[in-house]
Amino acid sequence: MIILHDFEIGIEEYEARGKNNSFPAFDRCPNCQCIAQGNVHRNGFYWRYGITEEKELYIPICRFRCLGCTVTISILPSFLIPYFQHTLDWMVVRLSKVLKGKKIKGSRQQLEQHKKRYYERIHWIHSFFMDLGYKLGFTQDIRKEAQKYMTMIQDFGKSTSFFRRSWGHLSSYFMGKLILPYLSSKKNNIHPT
Ligand SMILES: [Zn+2]
Repeated sequence: MIILHDFEIGIEEYEARGKNNSFPAFDRCPNCQCIAQGNVHRNGFYWRYGITEEKELYIPICRFRCLGCTVTISILPSFLIPYFQHTLDWMVVRLSKVLKGKKIKGSRQQLEQHKKRYYERIHWIHSFFMDLGYKLGFTQDIRKEAQKYMTMIQDFGKSTSFFRRSWGHLSSYFMGKLILPYLSSKKNNIHPT
């Protein structure tokens, strides 16, 4: 299970704090909801990359495990997208540039993969905005639609605003491929420690 968490700091600060970041604690398991005291335990870290425009960072992701249902819970900082090394901000900037035909540094092949994924997910983005009450058409011109929705994502506020708000819509997330049964929504019982 992945829980998105806003640490209210950027990735560089998060990297500097490392295992000493303010990780949340759980009153109850967000999966089985069991309220037995102390059922949700810290279960170490895994390490992953976070690639920004300037550099590659290597950061710890805190894990928990529930003794009741045995689910493993990862606390993903909201500046990262599950299963992508590029940070959310950098991903949005790269996509918006490539959609306008601008040059971007980094692997061309990877960029094409990300662009392809974005195109595959445009209907999901469209459906998120429709759910919010936007009145939107969807034309056959997919390139135009791709640019339109990228502009809407950017106008929504910071990248993280769109990302966090749309997190869990139809059990998926921005750039996500699969519907995740274990994707937690915002309504969880976590509190900062
Ligand atoms: Zn549980």
